[in-house]
Parts: sequence; C-alpha cells; structure tokens
Amino acid sequence: MIYWQKYNINRDWPCPTRKTPVKIVYLPPVNRGLKPNLHLMIQLVLFGKPGAGKGTQAEFLKETYGLKHLSTGDLFRHHIKNGTSLGLLAQSYMDQGALVPDQVTIDMLEEAVDQTPEAKGFIFDGFPRTTAQAEALDAFLASKNMKVSATIALEAHDEELLVRLLERGKISGRPDDQDETKIRTRFDEYNQKTAPLRNYYQAQNKFYSVDGIGAIEEVKQRIAEVIANLG
Ligand code: AMP
Repeated sequence: MIYWQKYNINRDWPCPTRKTPVKIVYLPPVNRGLKPNLHLMIQLVLFGKPGAGKGTQAEFLKETYGLKHLSTGDLFRHHIKNGTSLGLLAQSYMDQGALVPDQVTIDMLEEAVDQTPEAKGFIFDGFPRTTAQAEALDAFLASKNMKVSATIALEAHDEELLVRLLERGKISGRPDDQDETKIRTRFDEYNQKTAPLRNYYQAQNKFYSVDGIGAIEEVKQRIAEVIANLG
C-alpha cells in the first residue's frame, strides 16, 4: 500500500556489515506520534444510486486497504436509532426518500472525519450527493492537506436496483427500501442532484465508472483494478 511503501526500512536488509540479523520492529509514523504524510493517504468516494452496492463494496475496501468507512446513510440511521434531534430531523427527509439538507449532512460528515484522526484514509459512501457537498468536501479535505483520490461509480439500471432494494428491505426492515414510490423518489433525487457530480469529478480526472452488475466478487475485482492503477 502506498502509505507503507514510503516507510519501508526493511528494503536493504540483510545489512552486509552485521553478522546476526536483528529483528526490527517498525512502527508507522502515526504510532510513533509523528504526523503521517497526508498526501499518501487514500480518500475514495463511492458513487452510485441506492442499491448499487456501495455499502457491500465499502466493506471490502475497508478491509483490503485499511480505510475508514463513512456512510452518511448509516450515520443518519445511527442518530435515528438513538433518538437524537439530528436523527429526528433526518428521518423526516429519509421517510420521503428525499435528501437531508446539505449543511446538516456536511457538518455531520466533517465531525465524523474529525473523530477519526488516526485513519489512514476514508471511503465516503453516499457522500457527496450534491455539488454543494462535493465542494464542501474538497474544501474540508484541503484544510487538512488531503484530497479526494478517486470517485468510483457503481453503475446499474434502475429496474435491477429496484429489485435489489425491495429484497434488501425485506431483510433489513429499512422503511425506505420497502416502498416502490419512495425508492423511485430516491432515484429521482439522484438523477437531479447527484448525477451532476459525474461532471464535477470528471473535470478533475477523478471519475472511474465500474459495472456494478454481477457477483460481488467480480465487482470487487473491477474496483481493485481501478485502485491498482491510481497514480
Ligand atoms: P443511503 O443509506 O446512502 O441510501 O441513504 C439513506 C438516506 O439518507 C437517503 O435517502 C437520504 O435521505 C439520507 N442521506 C444519506 N446520505 C446523504 C447525503 N449525502 N445527503 C443528503 N441526504 C443523505
């Protein structure tokens, strides 16, 4: 992984001047209390309509690349479960399949990032969903000397997604996954407010489209290839 290569001090071992090998226990800079080189961190945006598989693939990315997974949908659901005022507010929008207002979402996301200073990088799942959120994310990351490394879009057709979401709703009990009208409203929200982000990230040469149809394992492979080819 990029982050570790930078600090690989074992590359010149065995040392020609030593007779007995010494085991070097190497601690990464964060554990030694030094500031990590933030330019080497990976920040991924997972992009795609509801049901495209962002959450599933984020789990794989999290384990494989050691990144912190931040899903704004999960954060809102956590607030709803805990009956916070933010949860109450978010629920009134989520129940309609509508997006939660930008500033509320941005503040929650920034707080979540700030609560994980030790993270080697983040997977932003379901954020940004509007141009205002994308601009806020860029500014926020820049203030920490970080930037979005890549936006990976999982592509799938609405009818396939509708079937997936209704199935998921039966298992998870998520109310917004159990009603076709709400699901279609979420697709409309995506088309109107989130789809324009494709151009936003394409203009920065950071947009990678991945076919989201197929076995989970196949989609994983496609994403892994994109990450392996990042500059
Ligand atoms: P998700 O779990 O990503 O499908 O999100 C579920 C719901 O949470 C969405 O339909 C929105 O109501 C809300 N939500 C999640 N992320 C955002 C976001 N970035 N901006 C606004 N609303 C969001």
